[in-house]
Amino acid sequence: MKHRGTVLIAAPVHPVLTEGLEAAGYSLRTAKDVTAETAPALIADCTGIVTSLRLPLDRALLDAAPALRWIGRMGSGMEIIDTAYAREKGIACFSSPEGNSNAVGEHALGMLLALTRRIAWSHREVQEGLWRREANRGIELEGRTIGIIGFGHTGSAFAKKLQGFDMRILAYDSNGTLTFPPYVEKATLAEIQQQADILSFHVPLDAGTRHYFDRSFAQAMHKPFILLNTSRGGVVALAAALDALEAGRIRGMALDVLEQEPPAAMTPALRDRLLAAAATPAVILTPHIGGYSHEALYKMSSVLLGKITADTPDV
Ligand code: NAD
Repeated sequence: MKHRGTVLIAAPVHPVLTEGLEAAGYSLRTAKDVTAETAPALIADCTGIVTSLRLPLDRALLDAAPALRWIGRMGSGMEIIDTAYAREKGIACFSSPEGNSNAVGEHALGMLLALTRRIAWSHREVQEGLWRREANRGIELEGRTIGIIGFGHTGSAFAKKLQGFDMRILAYDSNGTLTFPPYVEKATLAEIQQQADILSFHVPLDAGTRHYFDRSFAQAMHKPFILLNTSRGGVVALAAALDALEAGRIRGMALDVLEQEPPAAMTPALRDRLLAAAATPAVILTPHIGGYSHEALYKMSSVLLGKITADTPDV
């Protein structure tokens, strides 16, 4: 069989991908603990790179891999790759958002229910010997209006889960050509700001979406609301969200992603504010695990293998 070159596996992947690449004629080099410093030596002769958040590929790293023909991204979030420069150099970039969108949809729903029914909070109380029922009376989703911002893979997966909750599901997407399923109402941002009790972000992080949720967005919301973010931390300006929480505009907040991850990377003042808020029942944090499920690892690996082998038949 023709040898197609060497691939750096710089992300956790399912064997379906490694075995499939080997069967297609690639040799693999696995370095899951690769860093920006160690990467140049590892990618110098590579035809392909499989990467994730652990190894962002900027212009300098792309230049360090003159033989590179393709990059496979486990998951979505192509902001970690300088795709414009890759395109210029003729390097194909593949992502696999189809593989972890269901995991994100389930996680967003789990965080929402954990917040509204105080599941995580009361669990901790019970562990501490408390049995407080009235203090942990929750609110129901039935009859509430949720505004989903960004209706791609994860936004639509979340909406699908919400179908059974007898809620109004509004969605706004900047791509005006999208079609929406019958249980979702296409809305403008202003309509969401007027009507939503719950706000959930599902947009990519780019120059247009950085700090999408900021002070003015919080002020434009007509009712006190619950804020969910399972997209990228930079989409929500954390200081503005904490201000809105303290002012009572946000009644609950569930964040899987943070502007700086982990909180230890934040300024001490911001980190202390966040952790103080998380010590109340109004805030739930998870460590960027929305897309992390065992099934997603398999699905992303399998989707990537399909895209790589279909698009690079004669590499
Ligand atoms: P996607 O590309 O399938 O969908 C994003 C949607 O947002 C698109 O339909 C796009 O048109 C829309 N959009 C872009 N800019 C917009 C704007 N300014 N206003 C409104 N809509 C806009 O992406 P996805 O797979 O749904 O992922 C969404 C986000 O979730 C990304 O930031 C991704 O990195 C993140 N993500 C996080 C996890 C996690 O573990 N928490 C897992 C997967 C994806």
